[in-house]
Amino acid sequence: MTDTAKKPHGPDGTACPDNDNNPLLNWTEFPDFGLIEPRHVEPAVGAALTRADAELSALEAAKPTGWDDLMAPLERLGDRVEHVWGVAGHLNAVRNSVPLREAYQRAQPNVVQFLHRLGQSRGLFDGYVGLRGGNEYAGYDGARRRVLDSAVRDARLAGVDLDGAARERFLAIGKELADLGTRFQNNVLDATKAFSLTLKDPDEIAGLPATARQLAAQAAVAAGNEGATADAGPWVITLDAPSFTPFMQHARRRDLREKLYRAFITRASAGPLDNLPIIRRSLVLSREKANMLGYGTYAEMSLTRRMAPDVAAVEKLLLRLRDAARPAALRDLADLRELARQAGAAEAENLQNWDATFWAERLREKKFRLTDEQLRPYFPLPGVLDGLFGLAERLFDIRVRAADGQAPIWHPDVRFFRVADGAGRHVASFYLDPYSRPAEKRGGAWMDSLYGRSAACAAPGRRVRLGVAYICCNQTPPSSDTPSLMSFDEVLTLFHEFGHALQHMLTRVDCGLAAGINNIEWDAVELASQFMENWCHDRPTLRGLARHWQTGKPLPDEMIDSLIAARSFREGSATLRQVNFSMIDMELYHRHDPAGQDSPLDVQRRIAAETLVMPPLPEDRFLCSFSHIFAGGYSAGYYSYKWAAVLSADAFGAFEEAGLHDEQAVRKLGRRFRDTVLALGGSRHPMEVFKDFRGREPQPEALLRHSGLV
Ligand code: ZN
Repeated sequence: MTDTAKKPHGPDGTACPDNDNNPLLNWTEFPDFGLIEPRHVEPAVGAALTRADAELSALEAAKPTGWDDLMAPLERLGDRVEHVWGVAGHLNAVRNSVPLREAYQRAQPNVVQFLHRLGQSRGLFDGYVGLRGGNEYAGYDGARRRVLDSAVRDARLAGVDLDGAARERFLAIGKELADLGTRFQNNVLDATKAFSLTLKDPDEIAGLPATARQLAAQAAVAAGNEGATADAGPWVITLDAPSFTPFMQHARRRDLREKLYRAFITRASAGPLDNLPIIRRSLVLSREKANMLGYGTYAEMSLTRRMAPDVAAVEKLLLRLRDAARPAALRDLADLRELARQAGAAEAENLQNWDATFWAERLREKKFRLTDEQLRPYFPLPGVLDGLFGLAERLFDIRVRAADGQAPIWHPDVRFFRVADGAGRHVASFYLDPYSRPAEKRGGAWMDSLYGRSAACAAPGRRVRLGVAYICCNQTPPSSDTPSLMSFDEVLTLFHEFGHALQHMLTRVDCGLAAGINNIEWDAVELASQFMENWCHDRPTLRGLARHWQTGKPLPDEMIDSLIAARSFREGSATLRQVNFSMIDMELYHRHDPAGQDSPLDVQRRIAAETLVMPPLPEDRFLCSFSHIFAGGYSAGYYSYKWAAVLSADAFGAFEEAGLHDEQAVRKLGRRFRDTVLALGGSRHPMEVFKDFRGREPQPEALLRHSGLV
């Protein structure tokens, strides 16, 4: 705790008297969210960490040699920290306030320090290795073996078995890489902020939709143009995605699109904010780190923690996708030229990067007249939930029942549900916080865990603790006379997060460290979530799901056709874009010699030339703002987006092959998906889990088919 002086401590310095009634610390089944205040965070976190630290020291000193003396207490001590820190983090995300944010930030460094200590503990590492070589090991199930393997691997990757000067150097590299990542990100943010386009003439914003004009007027006010309005201007356009993207999609003034585009692709690439030196240094250090641990390249090291077996397997997939997507992307480009020609646009014969997004939007409008506003009345939240739960019942033989009032909530709109298996046995529960609340809830959507299934953490007298999930979305709230009417994207998002929650809730693994989504390689973690999204494009499911909130009429067939067709719209171009990013990432962290003559920008240019159908400008420096791989934890991991898409499409492909109209086949496969992907969690390698379900290794054909590329 940073301000211990202000907090009254007990005589032994460990217990805070005010913690006796601290609702963040003292809860068992469910926290009483309504009682938790920002002032509770630091004392509760402090007490949890003090206890966990003492337990960890005791474990290190005792040198235990059995699972029950080492791994079970270790799981419990981590779980108790999470018991407090997880709830604080959750409230910070859904009920944010300045005092809560400040309390959270003050407590955070201590939690980080504790996790560091846990990851770097030589004593624990020796314990894991001892367990792997010990007498008990032969009797361990797959879950325990996998947990130990991961623990040994992660400790080694944290440099635990390096000694003396090597260890010092390793930790120094880690610290410098973290600092470089922070600087990289800050430079991108500062460079993004440094550019803006102030427009005063209505002609300059011609084509921009009302929402984008409104945003541009707000940006103008923020920039000091008091009295700016959406209709009269002035308008400020920035390089932030919510401003940049609609302008590139809709603004008719080609010269302004070009100006904005050129600014965008050269962010953080010159002067004091230049990220190129940071990129070079990061690549050198990443290679050094990998070499110190005995790996040839950073990518090889990184892939030891992934489902993908090696670089060759990743590159094979990327090349396959590239070759399938290129002809489609060329057709996409020809479509845009044709449309521009029909519209009599001068640029038709010379389409540039700043034209592609604009004409793609025109084509979308022409082909798919369906707007969100037309679809929303068919997707009221209560109906969508009925459809989603009905699908889960049909596929996985579970029952989802509203249980509002049976657990405390943090906002009146939050719902609580219980999940039972086919025999009516309770297996898990979840909260659903569906609506956007910009003043206190962070954006986006996510699934998180209040706690997971675990035998080691079961209450006294119980065999196992059952999991509880949070599902948080940011969809359109209801109004006084309408329910929440969802856009199709919001429906997809809800299905996606529910898929994550299913994997958390339907796990049958009792070893908490490998239950649910724990211990799953992260290039496999999106399998369950994206799998659920697929059902939103299944005609019968969609028909059952979408009913007009007033008339009860199902979504008209032509609208369903349009939704299904829109799914593969320009997928060739989108796939190439993702493949380009993934290949540049892999090349830089694998084949590229960071100490050699080639510049990272040469790599960017070469791969783009081999991949994209509309090559970037020679001055393109997008690498300098590619935060995913230099500041976001996706280094040598950008391919995961496509890897997971292959898995989920291929899993859904099993249902297509069996025949989606064949109810018996669908149910049978659904049960198998439940018993493998959803049940086994991190207790088996994801490739084995996938093979258990599919009977073979994943293949990209289903993804290519769904994307309209075959
Ligand atoms: Zn996800």
